[in-house]
Amino acid sequence: MTGSLVVVGTGPGKADLMTPATAAALAKATDLVGYGPYLDRVPATRADQCRHASDNRVELDRARHALSLAASGRQVVVVSGGDPGVFAMASAIFEAVETGEPAWRTLDIRVEPGVTAMLAAAAEVGAPLGGDFCAISLSDNLKAWATVERRLKAAAEADFVIALYNPASKARPHQLGLAFDLLRALKAAETPVLFVRAAGTADAKVVTTTLEAADGALADMRTLVIVGASTTRQVGRWVYTPRREPGAQP
Ligand code: SAH
Repeated sequence: MTGSLVVVGTGPGKADLMTPATAAALAKATDLVGYGPYLDRVPATRADQCRHASDNRVELDRARHALSLAASGRQVVVVSGGDPGVFAMASAIFEAVETGEPAWRTLDIRVEPGVTAMLAAAAEVGAPLGGDFCAISLSDNLKAWATVERRLKAAAEADFVIALYNPASKARPHQLGLAFDLLRALKAAETPVLFVRAAGTADAKVVTTTLEAADGALADMRTLVIVGASTTRQVGRWVYTPRREPGAQP
């Protein structure tokens, strides 16, 4: 049988936030490849399915392993959380194709979209991403911190709503505080800031504060931080960004 490789994201956590297309791909797979905790979210549908769990830091090795399994005829599904193309495995797969075996270029490779953390987090609090927004990963494992700073500054100057992925980890406890300091110099003190932990799961927790009061210690690896634009506002317990901006045609 010809092999195939599907890259999927399981969504933010709740089973019903996984798309039916992703569930169908998982049910057909002979081999699942991914970071252990993401694989643990996949229900066991068939006894003959091999699970290849690996460490979170070895994305390219994992991608090569998945591609060689597919090249040998297996039906492989590579599992990420959220959406597989957002700070996740899909890029690693194509990087491995680009730098690896020529035969991998003709493999049957498909990417299934998933609900990314930013969307699940926004839905927990209202509609903070209602205007123009951007997403920045604060992790400097794969890029220089100076790049993160440059993008934060540009996003603040352009008045985007900013979704911050990977705001903190045990190895990087201080970067979110540095990011807030940088943003405080460029944006209004009362700008809404949201900490959404475990969005789209039964344990979801939201803290709504302002840029002035925002404390980087409130975030961990399971938190998505949203920093508002100048138009982002609170109404009751909800936060939203109106679609109509100042200066729009009447
Ligand atoms: N591919 C994933 C993102 C991987 S980066 C996606 O599309 O969602 C990992 C970061 O995503 C975490 O550090 C955190 O900032 C965010 N994240 C993932 N799941 C989350 C959730 N359920 N709630 C809040 N943030 C989450």
